[in-house]
Amino acid sequence: MSDKGSRKADLWQRKYYESLDELEQKEKQWEELESLLRLLASRLTLLSDARDEQMEKKLDKLRSNLRYEDDTLKFRPLINDISSTIARADAETKIKKPERESQSARSLKSLLDEIKIPAVLQRQEKHVRKRLGQAKSEKDIPELIKDMAELLGLTIEYWVEKKHDAADATERDEQPKEQTGKKTEEKTGFLKKLFSTAKNEWEKVPEIDQIEPEKDITGVSSASVNVPLDAAIDTSIHGDIDLDTGRDTAREPVTELSAEDIRYAAGILIELLEKLDLPHDLCVEAGLIRQRMEPCQEQERLAQGIEATAALVAEAHRRILDEKKELEAFLQQLTERLREIDTDLQETVRLQQLSITGSRDVNAAVEEEVCAIEESVEKAGDLTVLQTDIQSRVIIIRDHMDSFLQAELLRDRQSGAISERLKKELTEAEQKIEMLRKQLEKEREQSMKDALTGLFNRKAYDQYIKEELARFKRYASPFVLAVWDVDRFKSVNDQYGHVAGDKVLKIIAHVIAENTRETDIAARYGGEEFVVIMPETKVEAAYKSLDKLRAMIQNCAFHFRDRRIEITASCGITESRVDDTPESIFQRADDGLYRAKEKGRNRCEIA
Ligand code: GH3
Ligand code: MG
Ligand code: MG
Repeated sequence: MSDKGSRKADLWQRKYYESLDELEQKEKQWEELESLLRLLASRLTLLSDARDEQMEKKLDKLRSNLRYEDDTLKFRPLINDISSTIARADAETKIKKPERESQSARSLKSLLDEIKIPAVLQRQEKHVRKRLGQAKSEKDIPELIKDMAELLGLTIEYWVEKKHDAADATERDEQPKEQTGKKTEEKTGFLKKLFSTAKNEWEKVPEIDQIEPEKDITGVSSASVNVPLDAAIDTSIHGDIDLDTGRDTAREPVTELSAEDIRYAAGILIELLEKLDLPHDLCVEAGLIRQRMEPCQEQERLAQGIEATAALVAEAHRRILDEKKELEAFLQQLTERLREIDTDLQETVRLQQLSITGSRDVNAAVEEEVCAIEESVEKAGDLTVLQTDIQSRVIIIRDHMDSFLQAELLRDRQSGAISERLKKELTEAEQKIEMLRKQLEKEREQSMKDALTGLFNRKAYDQYIKEELARFKRYASPFVLAVWDVDRFKSVNDQYGHVAGDKVLKIIAHVIAENTRETDIAARYGGEEFVVIMPETKVEAAYKSLDKLRAMIQNCAFHFRDRRIEITASCGITESRVDDTPESIFQRADDGLYRAKEKGRNRCEIA
């Protein structure tokens, strides 16, 4: 390969490695975001704690970072912070658990205290009490309930039998017999059902007040059975015991979020979705999730939204991985190609060297023979002898030459084949490099574009503003930076939904793009904020054209269900200064924007 060719390949290889690094960074970002979302989804209940803990502050910070920060890597520490707060809260919940568990056991114990267990069942009672005392974890509770049910069943059977016996023997029973039987059956059935583990059974359980306490015939005060039983069951069901499945019911605490909490969390999620730098088709998907999230009143819907977002992030993550894999495969291929080329080159060098040594050898041999001929001539007395000697030496020289030429011919053929192969390999490598260079360029270009509006994105803006400042400092050619913000855009979303909001953003972006010069750089800074860099422009001239643009936005015919909606935007304008940095110039334009908002919006202000 030529020197130039190999330098070119080196350069591209380096570039690909750089893109690989970039992809790796992105991949990490998506991965972190995904795991955070999954964590949020599974620990959703803890969001309610956000109100009185520092969590609220952190989520607020995340929310504002989402608005102003394009690079999710930059808020990684905050994400980690939130994750660890969640993890801590999670750990605290786990620490608190034994208390709740022992409370379940305590409730069962007080139920037992309220029931008069006959002496014949003392052994069983003791056993249950012992197990109640030993109950350490939530897992023990369903088993204990079974034991309790059994004991209660036996107790009731005992009292019923006792009553029957007494009635038979003395006929002094105050209750009619059939009614007693019916009631007892009902009660035993009820208890059975009560402690049954099947949900449908549980649903069939009669209301507790359907059992009339004053008609109790068991000899046990009806109130002492029913009232605590009710309370105890209540604790079990609304506490941690899942009678539904009989499974280990170490459930997460089911904290119902208030509607305000749900809206708050949904708001953060929607902003996150707006901020994600997704490929076009996933952007559409993100739009659909957002649409489903508004209005978000139910906790379940919020959890589904978070899950769906996590899945979306996972998909973006997967694509990055694919892209990375593809690039890695290409680099591998390229490296192999270069290695092959290198081997071939080495072979040509070896052949060349062989040729040089060969010709050196043949030279030496010829020289030797020529010297010998000279000597023979000098010494020759007899011409015939001399003639024979010279002839034989000429033959030797010819032999040397012949074998050298043959070897050269072979080497020629070999290096000819190698150079053919080399040429082919080089052309192929160059074609592949060119193809991938174009692909990479396309991807780079796409990565500089905002998927919703098609304008440049924040990343591109960050790059262009640096370049423009450098140019300004080199050539003293001033430029203008304008920062746009759509007025009261939140209420557009609130009134007409995010999909309509997105349409508005698209149209405004289009108006901006159409009404700026070709040399101007228009970008979506984030959310409903746009920036325009106007090279070679003085602020007064810029003001005129930007104010025209403002009027155009105002005059856009936005309609929602045949109703015209006026949408306006405000703008802060500033001209470059010698000591400016990307931050200082943006801050100044943003100050202008703030003033424009303060002065009533729908206006441009120079700062
Ligand atoms: P102001 O006039 O002070 O700028 O009021 P505002 O309501 O526009 O300001 P605020 O910053 O409170 O709200 C901006 C809103 O823009 C909130 C956010 O949900 C919305 N938004 C940001 N990005 C997008 C997006 O991509 N699509 C949609 N539909 N809405 C977005
Ligand atoms: Mg804004
Ligand atoms: Mg706004």
